[in-house]
Amino acid sequence: MKVGVVKESAPGERRVALVPETVPRLVQAGLEVLVEQGAGDSAWFPDDSYTAAGAAVITTDKLYATADVILTVTRPEPGRLRTGQAVIGMLAPLTDPRLARSLAERGVTAVSLDGLPRTLSRAQGMDALTSQANVAGYKAALLAADAYGRFFPLLITAAGTARPAKLLVLGTGVAGLQAIGTARRLGAQVSGYDVRPASKGEVESLGATFIELTTGVSAAGEGGYARELTAEERDAQQAELAGHIARQDVIITTAQVPGRRPPLLVTADAVSAMAPGSVIVDMGASPLGGNVAGSVPGETVVTPNGVTIIGAENLAASVPTAASNAFSRNISALLLQLVSASDSGERALNIDTTDEIQAGVVVAHGGEVVHPAVAKLLAAESANQGS
Ligand code: NAD
Repeated sequence: MKVGVVKESAPGERRVALVPETVPRLVQAGLEVLVEQGAGDSAWFPDDSYTAAGAAVITTDKLYATADVILTVTRPEPGRLRTGQAVIGMLAPLTDPRLARSLAERGVTAVSLDGLPRTLSRAQGMDALTSQANVAGYKAALLAADAYGRFFPLLITAAGTARPAKLLVLGTGVAGLQAIGTARRLGAQVSGYDVRPASKGEVESLGATFIELTTGVSAAGEGGYARELTAEERDAQQAELAGHIARQDVIITTAQVPGRRPPLLVTADAVSAMAPGSVIVDMGASPLGGNVAGSVPGETVVTPNGVTIIGAENLAASVPTAASNAFSRNISALLLQLVSASDSGERALNIDTTDEIQAGVVVAHGGEVVHPAVAKLLAAESANQGS
């Protein structure tokens, strides 16, 4: 079985799905590893490092023509894939169900790491959402420190004393907790807030203060995720958070609800009540809107009252070597889980959606969109078009 590693094509995407260190693991499992020329360049893995690890570096055309399985970080180019081929990556099928449909129509087996059942202990080594959120949370704290015009730590020098920065992280899942840890290591005075009650202990275990709202919004949803708030809960939350936000120098927001637009946590009024020189990093920034009023994905804006709002997009791609190292371990663990050997020793993907992991990750197979949630989204879309 031939496994192909492609060069990512999305703008600003510097990660690569497989790093040289992981190649021997796949080779030992009886797989042949093909790497598109230059695939690892942006993450500082030159072609010769792949060759030295036991992979064959080949042209783009040859790779798509010969690989049985294509490994990618983000969206592949469906037009390049053919019937019988498989693609594994972060395909975001709940936000881009049409990609899943076009892959199914081409007879491509599509496997997406985003759908992994994350609380299953045997799946943890495959959890790319976690590994990439970790990298992104780290980078968010560094971006905030870089944009902030003062120090994060308490500094006592002959030229005066600088008080530590007050930093609040809104949404303390994987990325938020890493942002808290990193900001604490930089010396900031850190607090955190989340709607899941379980996160209080996690925030406090990092030495940060957990903010509890008197409105007591508690929104633990399924699979460890948060549920969407009702309009009343959202209004109460925004109003009470505004008071806390006004007292901060730096805010980092990471709040997400699976399959929904990110919740608005920092309103325009809350931003206008912040002091000049304050910094907000919105990790929820998206074309549909983010966690912060006025944030623009991929851009930094400065409000009339002097607040810098960074619309952080795909931060994991900006720490490409670390992010690729982790992603490579995740994707190879999933790949090896999917591969089986025939009596003749021939390796092939063994798609079986009765398996709990596969039920989460396999999106398209045998010409059909097989993932129920994605199929439901597509059916709703066609119904809307029909009406
Ligand atoms: P996520 O990216 O979906 O969301 C980030 C955070 O935003 C979450 O903590 C969520 O509760 C919070 N949030 C959503 N709406 C909010 C709102 N209106 N106000 C404030 N906060 C809001 O989350 P994630 O980082 O992917 O983690 C989700 C959960 O999965 C966590 O419970 C995490 O511990 C769990 N998890 C478990 C495992 C495991 O068991 N191995 C692995 C990874 C994650």
